[in-house]
Amino acid sequence: MPRLYESRKRILVTGGAGFLGSHLIDRLMAQGHEVICADNLFTGTKRNIEHLHNNPRFEFMRHDVCNPLKLEVDEIWNLACPASPVHYQYNPVLTTKTSVMGAMNLLGLAKRLRCPIFQASTSEVYGDPEVHPQREDYWGHVNPIGTRACYDEGKRCAETLFFDYHRQHGVKIKVARIFNTYGPRMHPRDGRVVSNFITQALSGEDLTIYGDGSQTRSFCYVDDLIGGFLKLMDAPESVTGPVNLGNPHEFTMIELADRVLNLTGAKVKVVHQPLPSDDPKQRRPDITLAREKLGWVPKVELPEGLRHTIDYFRALV
Ligand code: NAD
Ligand code: UDP
Ligand code: UDP
Repeated sequence: MPRLYESRKRILVTGGAGFLGSHLIDRLMAQGHEVICADNLFTGTKRNIEHLHNNPRFEFMRHDVCNPLKLEVDEIWNLACPASPVHYQYNPVLTTKTSVMGAMNLLGLAKRLRCPIFQASTSEVYGDPEVHPQREDYWGHVNPIGTRACYDEGKRCAETLFFDYHRQHGVKIKVARIFNTYGPRMHPRDGRVVSNFITQALSGEDLTIYGDGSQTRSFCYVDDLIGGFLKLMDAPESVTGPVNLGNPHEFTMIELADRVLNLTGAKVKVVHQPLPSDDPKQRRPDITLAREKLGWVPKVELPEGLRHTIDYFRALV
């Protein structure tokens, strides 16, 4: 439902044509706001937002966040950045630029407009963690010169910029550290484990487990995650984050493969391939802070979330 003009916000979402961005935009539009989606369509696609094109409260602009942007908005969400190893390693220099220059330009915009700004940070700031589960006060274990560094260090530097703009210029910041999230509109060829396993199972190919499959991840369903984003933005100004958002239930890649095979009924095998370099061995969020400060806990567990995601990929494949 559109809101009355006075209570309507004009909101900028960068990376809005991507997986998470398009779900966020759906929720903001459903709240009756006006949304400007700025995206260079590197990994995003117009298909994710095409259902909004006839809505007068929605606007798409092709824009690279490495460049300055002059607009008048009430709120900024910065999600622009390739997010899967395949995509962020395709042009690693551009990945770091996107995180760092993107953050700087959007913080400059937020400073001029005196408006709140959200940063989609990541559990990758913890690197290959030596502390388990990960709490926000853990500083991380990142290889600064490895193949994941373009993403990890770019996101770490973006967090630094957010906190320095906050301390130095009083910018209202909201920093979320997002753990592995999955759901409809994931890019089918982004190489992430959930999309890989599902598309493989649906097309009758063997599931590729990297390494022995004992490494763990904790998977959050997209609707839960976006609920956390909105609660963080709505929280009092003093709640700046960083705050972990993710589902604390942890699975090995072998367990995930089993679940996908069960739910799809695919009669394929599991094959092992080499583990990529710097691949974290384990990852699970400690979400105490999100629970206490935001009253947020994820509700959708893996079988249900996988079912929705499989339905989406079935229609796509
Ligand atoms: P995605 O690749 O689907 O979305 C990223 C979007 O950013 C795409 O639409 C892409 O075209 C756009 N983009 C990339 N570079 C850009 C640039 N220079 N200028 C403008 N737009 C640009 O990935 P996603 O999973 O939706 O991730 C969204 C954000 O959340 C990213 O910042 C990512 O780092 C973060 N994140 C995601 C996850 C996850 O599990 N999905 C986990 C941690 C963090
Ligand atoms: N910026 C922008 N839009 C604005 C204001 C600033 O894109 O409305 C960019 C600006 O081009 C600069 C960056 O944000 O590159 C940081 O701006 P800030 O004002 O903090 O720094 P300065 O311009 O003084 O370097
Ligand atoms: N992985 C896998 N098979 C695949 C794709 C990924 O076993 O086809 C593994 C990968 O090595 C990692 C885990 O699954 O240990 C999660 O990978 P993803 O790229 O989804 O996320 P990230 O490593 O960024 O957490």
